[in-house]
Amino acid sequence: MIDIDVLIIGCGMAGLVAARKISEANLSTMVIATGLGSTVLSSGTIDLIGYFDGGKVRKPMETLDEFISQNPGHPYAIVGRERILQAFQEFNEKYDSFTRYEGNLEKNLTLLTPLGLFKPTLLAQSSMIRGTRENLEGSKVLVIGFRNLLNHTPALIAKSLKENWEIDADYIKLDRSETQPVQLALLLESHSEEIIQSLNEHNLGNYDYLALPPVLGIRRTREILSEFEDILGAKAFETMSFPPSVPGLRLQQLLEQPCIQNGVEIRLGWRAVEIKTTKKGCQTQIVENDSKQEISSKAVIIATGQIMRDEIIASEKDFQGSINPQILEYLKTDKEMRLIFGGKSFENIFVAGSALSEKNMTGLGTALSTGYASAAEVIKYLKGN
Ligand SMILES: Cc1cc2nc3c(=O)[nH]c(=O)nc-3n(C[C@H](O)[C@H](O)[C@H](O)COP(=O)(O)OP(=O)(O)OC[C@H]3O[C@@H](n4cnc5c(N)ncnc54)[C@H](O)[C@@H]3O)c2cc1C
Repeated sequence: MIDIDVLIIGCGMAGLVAARKISEANLSTMVIATGLGSTVLSSGTIDLIGYFDGGKVRKPMETLDEFISQNPGHPYAIVGRERILQAFQEFNEKYDSFTRYEGNLEKNLTLLTPLGLFKPTLLAQSSMIRGTRENLEGSKVLVIGFRNLLNHTPALIAKSLKENWEIDADYIKLDRSETQPVQLALLLESHSEEIIQSLNEHNLGNYDYLALPPVLGIRRTREILSEFEDILGAKAFETMSFPPSVPGLRLQQLLEQPCIQNGVEIRLGWRAVEIKTTKKGCQTQIVENDSKQEISSKAVIIATGQIMRDEIIASEKDFQGSINPQILEYLKTDKEMRLIFGGKSFENIFVAGSALSEKNMTGLGTALSTGYASAAEVIKYLKGN
């Protein structure tokens, strides 16, 4: 039987942020998941509060108190302003490797979308950061597309930039056969120079910015972006894209990498079906294909997301119930991120991520801040600090 300090169920943003923090406190940590969740499918930009009261939010930290007072059941109300700030600051400081996130915690970015509109978000990968409305206003933009790439229409983006935002924009389409963004990203990862040089055949004129779909490799994005800029002589950036997106894949890898380096075992294809808990610890039943096994741990974090969660039965000596139904319900915690079920808090089951979010009021910011907060509470519970 596996015996560890902390078992985390779920391999999305919430589970992996928690796993990193807990493993850094020298607690043995394991992550199990049926598969990858919505984190990898997302656009890869991290929202704190993008929209509220029917409008775009400019300063999400200023809107937070009003948001919480109107939504007292939201995870942000439980985590609180201070820990939300800490979670974002720690994310900005620590997650810096093949890609990193940029953004000002006080003010949302407004990033160019594949529809040629601008979407508010708090943090974006550094390759996307130039594609803000503020930056592009008054400049000349070339939208670069690839002929067969799905869900990317450079003509539409250029038209919208001109008509909706009065930004001077043209477009070109490069002749490529790849249809999927990931295919193109992998190709650029190994053959970027060749593909960029082929652009020289076109008479590109003078542009301030080159707007590309987010396909500039997975781990070499910064180098590929610089190659575009050096060869074509203009500043370049990646726009947002429809899911599943390459930035979502980069984010998933960015989150997994430090966990693996810290010795966290990540097992995919493992489904948690039951957690039995006593004051001494938790026994979690896992199903992998047709075989079953048990994991013994001092604490469990449930980070099973919202749209892809499989049912888990939780029991303590005098009651039992489904805590993770497959319908769109959400879990509740107390202020210490402990699961509340049947009117009482579980001593050693904690919850993080969009499993906690009412309806669809969720995003990567919820996953990040609750992953951070649940890890801090687990560390306090097991180590007393
Ligand atoms: C298409 C799409 C686009 C999005 N775009 C954005 C965006 O632009 N900005 C933004 O901020 N947010 C966006 N979101 C929302 C964001 O992706 C989610 O809120 C966030 O990823 C949730 O993270 P999580 O860790 O809570 O859950 P998830 O990433 O969903 O992870 C859940 C994990 O739990 C596992 N699991 C579930 N049940 C079990 C079980 N019984 N046993 C074992 N494992 C289990 C799953 O396999 C998975 O690994 C988007 C979501 C989608 C779907």
